[in-house]
Amino acid sequence: MHHASRKWHGNTDWCRRMKPPSIVIVGAGPAGIRAAETIIQAGYRPTVVDEGDQCGGQIYRQPPSGIRRSPKALYGFEAQKASNLHESFASILDAIDYRPASTVWDASENKLCVLSESGTKDVHWDRLILATGAMDRVIPFKGWTQPGVFTLGGSQVALKGQACAIGECPVFVGTGPLLYLVAYQYLLAGVRPKAVLDTSPPKAQRRAIVGLMRGGRTFLKGLLYIAQLKRAGVRIASGIRPLAANIGEDGSVSNFSWLDHSGEMRSAICDSIAVGFGLRSETQLADLCGVPFAYDKGQRQWLPAQDSAGRAEDIEGIYFAGDGAGVKGADAAELLGRRAAHALLLDLGHAESGRLLANINRRIQRMSTFRHALDRVAFPFPHRLAAAIDDATILCRCEGVAAGELRRIGKELGATEVNRAKAFCRVGMGRCQGRVCGEIAAEVLAECLDVSIEKVGRIRGQAPVKPISMRAFAEASKS
Ligand SMILES: Cc1cc2nc3c(=O)[nH]c(=O)nc-3n(C[C@H](O)[C@H](O)[C@H](O)COP(=O)(O)OP(=O)(O)OC[C@H]3O[C@@H](n4cnc5c(N)ncnc54)[C@H](O)[C@@H]3O)c2cc1C
Repeated sequence: MHHASRKWHGNTDWCRRMKPPSIVIVGAGPAGIRAAETIIQAGYRPTVVDEGDQCGGQIYRQPPSGIRRSPKALYGFEAQKASNLHESFASILDAIDYRPASTVWDASENKLCVLSESGTKDVHWDRLILATGAMDRVIPFKGWTQPGVFTLGGSQVALKGQACAIGECPVFVGTGPLLYLVAYQYLLAGVRPKAVLDTSPPKAQRRAIVGLMRGGRTFLKGLLYIAQLKRAGVRIASGIRPLAANIGEDGSVSNFSWLDHSGEMRSAICDSIAVGFGLRSETQLADLCGVPFAYDKGQRQWLPAQDSAGRAEDIEGIYFAGDGAGVKGADAAELLGRRAAHALLLDLGHAESGRLLANINRRIQRMSTFRHALDRVAFPFPHRLAAAIDDATILCRCEGVAAGELRRIGKELGATEVNRAKAFCRVGMGRCQGRVCGEIAAEVLAECLDVSIEKVGRIRGQAPVKPISMRAFAEASKS
């Protein structure tokens, strides 16, 4: 397929050199692995860059070599899928240039800046597949930056990646399927959660039931997690509103308080809190490559614009796979990885890939009813809760900016757009570059100015997209 009007960021030198194009995949999760596998089958040798020490991405994360836990203990019902994916990757290792423990911290035209133990190096690409996955979404509440408060994903990483728990009696707060899954995984690992507190009201879950049933086994697994938690005597509540993580004499979390669905204040003694309100796509590299973004109302996030095969809009040579360009889950990520690879191969002249694209899209489409019921009806992102954060609550933890300060900047200084607000009060300017607070800042600003969320825009991506040392930065500037 040829797109005459699109900008070309990929390097065309390889056409003249008659050398195979340099194909780079960022991410070795389900999407990146399936993309690599597909590309190898067509006779190319892709480079796979991933910041993890081992392949698997988030869901199929592997423990360090010293820790031995069976796939069943680590991945539960997904053990077979995890083993299949790890084995697939092991079988293609000789056919790829694999760069583990390597973080892409900047991207431009046809170059990635990659930091590993040996320093920072440039990796050039003619074709780039971004399979960067997603991260937790957090809505701040009083005390969320205190020791003992973790993200849901972080608490799962502790369990899967380090075989340790965040505490002995954790409270799980937020919404989404991961809330119940991680609480259940803690229970299985021998840590009984003190409470599982869902902000989504029970009526939302009832409304979603028909769509959820389309999920078949996945839906039944969700019901089982909840049943097992209840059987173990874990307190489960929905329609709650978080109030505060309260700190004990030792300076760490000692108690969590919330309003129940009828507005009564409740609290639970705990030694740790895991919090998460669904996931957001990791889109910064697409941003640095100049891909245009569009606002996705359903996911309440700005996402890189792409066509129906995962090609970046306006910029040729870039493809998207998996949760990194819209959260669709692990099974879809594997399909999206194959889809991105086939789109790339078709663009390189492999006509047979065109036939496969339509088939993959049909399979992805079949998953969409369940996904919609899950993310948008049963556990929607509680944006009103985000917009209503207390004035005194820290919104941007890197720079210590409270919600009230952002509202003042918006109303008194006329910062009607998030990048302008960032310039005035440094919201989103710290180590996380707005990955944690950017969308919440937009919700707060839009609500206080009484404008639509699209109107306030999004914090533009800046390098380094992940924290790197000044030394690495200095080295990169010299080269
Ligand atoms: C913390 C967490 C836990 C999750 N747990 C579950 C679960 O238990 N069950 C479930 O069904 N779903 C879970 N999900 C969702 C699930 O992980 C995804 O749906 C699925 O993994 C998507 O696959 P992917 O290949 O698109 O992305 P991922 O699996 O996220 O893989 C992306 C890869 O890209 C790499 N990467 C990202 N940015 C860079 C960079 N700048 N430089 C180098 N490498 C980079 C990451 O290291 C990662 O290995 C979880 C998500 C998160 C964030």
